[in-house]
Amino acid sequence: MGDFTLELNDDQKSVRDWIHGFAADVMRPAAAEWDEREETPWPVIQEAAKIGLYSLDFYAQQFFDPTGLGIPMAMEELFWGDAGIGLSIVGTGLAAVGVLANGTEEQIGTWVPQMYGDVNDVKVAAFCSSEPDAGSDVSAMRTRAVYDEAKDEWVLNGTKTWATNGGIAAVHVVVAVVDPELGSKGHASFIVPPNTPGLSQGQKFKKHGIRASHTAEVVLEDCRIPGECLLGGKAKLDERLARAHERAKTGGERVKNAAMATFEASRPAVGAQAVGIARAAYEVALDYAKTRVQFGRPIIDNQGIAFQLADMRTQIDAARLLVWRASWMAAAGRPFTSAEGSMSKLYAGETAKTVTAQAMQILGGNGYTREYPVERMHRDAAIYTIFEGTSEIQRLVIARTLSGMPIR
Ligand SMILES: Cc1cc2nc3c(=O)[nH]c(=O)nc-3n(C[C@H](O)[C@H](O)[C@H](O)COP(=O)(O)OP(=O)(O)OC[C@H]3O[C@@H](n4cnc5c(N)ncnc54)[C@H](O)[C@@H]3O)c2cc1C
Repeated sequence: MGDFTLELNDDQKSVRDWIHGFAADVMRPAAAEWDEREETPWPVIQEAAKIGLYSLDFYAQQFFDPTGLGIPMAMEELFWGDAGIGLSIVGTGLAAVGVLANGTEEQIGTWVPQMYGDVNDVKVAAFCSSEPDAGSDVSAMRTRAVYDEAKDEWVLNGTKTWATNGGIAAVHVVVAVVDPELGSKGHASFIVPPNTPGLSQGQKFKKHGIRASHTAEVVLEDCRIPGECLLGGKAKLDERLARAHERAKTGGERVKNAAMATFEASRPAVGAQAVGIARAAYEVALDYAKTRVQFGRPIIDNQGIAFQLADMRTQIDAARLLVWRASWMAAAGRPFTSAEGSMSKLYAGETAKTVTAQAMQILGGNGYTREYPVERMHRDAAIYTIFEGTSEIQRLVIARTLSGMPIR
């Protein structure tokens, strides 16, 4: 029992403080500008690269932290700084996790470094799963990957949508259908290398929040990639598909689909981003409530305000604990038997949305203007109940896991 602690160790604390410094000194002052510009903040990503914060090394170090807390701690600090810029900095990580979850060691070694580029030539990567008719319902995916045996190439055709960094990425990780009979079990993930003909950016979306993060369609037209770009390799895919066909006939061991492996691993990290946004808005609201005077006293003197702040802080801390639990479980190799990853993302996402709305209310008219950051934080927070699985889908995953029933 003596081993149990929620205290970060000295190394973790110093990394946290270092990221916090970057978030406070570089990201915060740039946040409003890039939100207005609705463009990828390349100069800020470059600054992050210069100090090693935007790099494979940094990401890998946090990813392999044995306590599991490296990634959530880094995410919380970055998104405390700013969510739009934060997503531009960590969006590459989702694609990297796609390769880590499904790729061979050789593929990880070849492609993940190219996703980041180097200090003098920074790159980003994109993970492309969603399609216009396949958002929550991944099994409705239509993008097709067909193997051309004669040339040992895969040919990709289809349209991906909502891809973070889609079209501006050096490396795209694309999930596609290889066996239409199997629904989501017949999907596989592919690397589309830099400058591959047949991949182009479609519409770039104008968004409600996280506007510094680039979100776009990715169009694949007879996009040919080498056979070795199938993540995990052909032998493993053939074996997995054979098992899935067998199970379809006879029942038996469940076969995981490619995109889900990525999402399961990344949900607590996304929850940590939401915690960062919520904490940022709460801090602004707390300061404001202590200094804003109405009726001759600070507005926090009213229980109506003070109790809201008490609830906000309680929810933020509860969300962080759920995120840390799931992150620790993942690092310790414990399976999410009660959908703990989904629980953490659900609760943190909902908390960010509620807390930022309360913060805006506490700031009154000022909260509604762009003179104060809570309006932006509220817009940014709204995505956290939508992407990486909507709140409804998280509840579905949790309910199915808890009950073992095919709840719809
Ligand atoms: C800014 C942004 C960035 C994104 N980045 C990426 C990315 O990098 N890569 C990527 O692949 N995707 C990305 N996405 C896509 C995102 O994951 C999807 O938007 C999300 O999965 C929801 O899909 P949808 O938008 O099609 O909504 P739909 O699936 O059409 O859902 C619409 C509504 O119906 C509800 N609903 C659907 N099915 C059920 C059900 N069975 N029970 C109850 N309610 C249900 C949903 O919860 C939601 O409220 C991004 C999206 C956005 C907006």
